[in-house]
Amino acid sequence: MLCSRGLGGLRARAAPLRPGRAGLGGLGAGIRARGVSTSWSPVGAAFNVKPQGRRLDLFGERRGLFGVPELSSPEGFRIAQENALRKTDLLVERARCTPPGPQTVLIFDELSDSLCRVADLADFVKIAHPEPAFREAAEEACRSIGTVVEKLNTNVELYQSLQKLLADEKLMDSLDPETRRVAELFMFDFEISGIHLDKEKRKRAVDLNVKILDLSSTFLMGTNFPTKIEKHLLPAHIHHNFVFTGDHVIIDGLHAEAPDALVREAAYKIFLYPNADQLKCLEELLSSRDLLAKLVGYSTYSHRALQGTIAKNPETVMEFLEKLSDKLSERTIKDFEMIRGMKMKLNPQNSELMPWDPPYYSGVIRAERYNIEPSLYCPFFSLGACMEGLNILFNKLLGISLYAEQPAKGEVWCEDVRKLAVVHESEGLLGYVYCDFFQRADKPHQDCHFTIRGGRLKEDGDYQLPVVVLMLNLPHSSRNLPTLLTPGMMENLFHEMGHAMHSMLGRTRYQHVTGTRCPTDFAEVPSILMEYFANDYRVVNQFARHYQTGQSLPKNMVSRLCESKKVCAAADMQLQVFYATLDQIYHGKHPLRKSTTDILKETQEKFYGLPYVPNTAWQLRFSHLVGYGAKYYSYLMSRAVASMVWKECFLQDPFNRAAGERYRREMLAHGGGKEPMLMVQGMLQKCPSIDDFVSALVSDLDLDFETFLMDSE
Ligand SMILES: [Zn+2]
Repeated sequence: MLCSRGLGGLRARAAPLRPGRAGLGGLGAGIRARGVSTSWSPVGAAFNVKPQGRRLDLFGERRGLFGVPELSSPEGFRIAQENALRKTDLLVERARCTPPGPQTVLIFDELSDSLCRVADLADFVKIAHPEPAFREAAEEACRSIGTVVEKLNTNVELYQSLQKLLADEKLMDSLDPETRRVAELFMFDFEISGIHLDKEKRKRAVDLNVKILDLSSTFLMGTNFPTKIEKHLLPAHIHHNFVFTGDHVIIDGLHAEAPDALVREAAYKIFLYPNADQLKCLEELLSSRDLLAKLVGYSTYSHRALQGTIAKNPETVMEFLEKLSDKLSERTIKDFEMIRGMKMKLNPQNSELMPWDPPYYSGVIRAERYNIEPSLYCPFFSLGACMEGLNILFNKLLGISLYAEQPAKGEVWCEDVRKLAVVHESEGLLGYVYCDFFQRADKPHQDCHFTIRGGRLKEDGDYQLPVVVLMLNLPHSSRNLPTLLTPGMMENLFHEMGHAMHSMLGRTRYQHVTGTRCPTDFAEVPSILMEYFANDYRVVNQFARHYQTGQSLPKNMVSRLCESKKVCAAADMQLQVFYATLDQIYHGKHPLRKSTTDILKETQEKFYGLPYVPNTAWQLRFSHLVGYGAKYYSYLMSRAVASMVWKECFLQDPFNRAAGERYRREMLAHGGGKEPMLMVQGMLQKCPSIDDFVSALVSDLDLDFETFLMDSE
């Protein structure tokens, strides 16, 4: 695809993949509103103090969304889109006439840039703008750009201009590594359309692509479709846990946190009851993907999907998952025993451990063992304090400061969106982060990072600065009470800022590989690394201050929080290993040996350990099969790399400037423009093995001896 969309864009990738993050907990009732007594740095104040109403700016010029002049009204999308298409035509013509060389890659990237700049922006606006007219105009822009991209992907002349470059070995050797990689990436995207095949096969590839797109959206819809059953089929005493319409009960999820075991069991069995249409849809999706992969020259879909990733191929992924499973198994068994013990205590009449039990009982154990009620922590994590913490960290580590800037009229889509300029001490402005942090009606309930404009070196030698949006769903502040974050929200903020910094510090020549547009199993490394910082007392101590008294968060509270996260963490990870393995098998060798349900049963028994429940088909609710096809393991692998980077480079001193600079130089700066394993090697200054990956993940589960002693005093 000429448009990087769908390739590396991070879109809604992070949040859903993060396991075990349900339930954010409300604010404690005990917090009384009082004036903010602590003094904040400018960036802290920008987020803790409500703007006193925008200056009434009657005569100021209206700038348009993100400062794009056309976008001061919904109609502007049409103009922006027409401008982009006109530019596309010119660039296609230029590509055709230019002899093969580095210039070819530059033209392709500019082509991609002009389309992405409209499409990426529209992709965000269509889901986040509060005004329907804007959302609709953006939706329309996405559609029409999508059509153009499709056409370009099957434009033989365009393909040939790139093909000539790639076929010329001497010429390719003369290119710098980033240019070579980007040329190959463009080609990789071309080939999925079957453009290199004969006419008949090409038609089949195009048809398969269309079919896969349709099946994907049908399957995705089916994954959260509620199940309806007749009321009398459920025991009356649990009715009040569910929603009714007439004589029917609607089950819209697993109710995994419900204290009543029968509620969880009923929800599990009903919500996961196999739906024949959905089953057929999944089977067709998997076999179509397999056919397409084979048509364009790969032995399985997984082999194609893993090109260019850290893992490189399905064999490595399976080795990683199997070794991880082996190392985890003893700990998982212990976790299950502990969970079973709790079930026996609370539910003596039926203490057999079932798949609907672990989330609830591990929560109970966590709460019983560690006093980590979110309301105890919230007052220390005002949004302003957390932003100040990020500012301090980036400053010490990278010489970077965050400045809150007043957006121009019409530049933001909602009044509470803040604009941050990211500025380096000697290099100056690096880019902009728009912070869309607060809850609002119709806003997607998901924390994520959007690339609005990618960075790239322009022909005139200037650098096109990256622009991103961070979207969170935080509660609003009130007149006297700043927004207070639970520890989970604080960690999410750090996570998402990790993505933003990846975007800001990427200095790739091409926007096609800007910041987070990198292989999926590398994309979460910078964000997960930030979670390690967010959980380190030395870092937290820099910013976590009570919003009223200014008191610091006590060290033992931070330790307790960290230790609580290790409760049943092996069982949680084991579950992720099971999901990732299932995803590999489904996208592996076809035809599948058995039905998808039989494979689920077998894989669950081997890689998880809790019994399969007859007449259920969890895979039909596995929405990530669509977006992550064959790459669900990515989160685990990214976590392994982040863990190694943390331990080798930052654990000793989380503010080590030399390590920070190396991190920027070796990892962040390259976006997706360098082979990911080379970036990992550059950072760790050694080549890690799969065993190293596994050990890093498993050692994170070890309890901290010091905290253990402190707690038993
Ligand atoms: Zn993420």
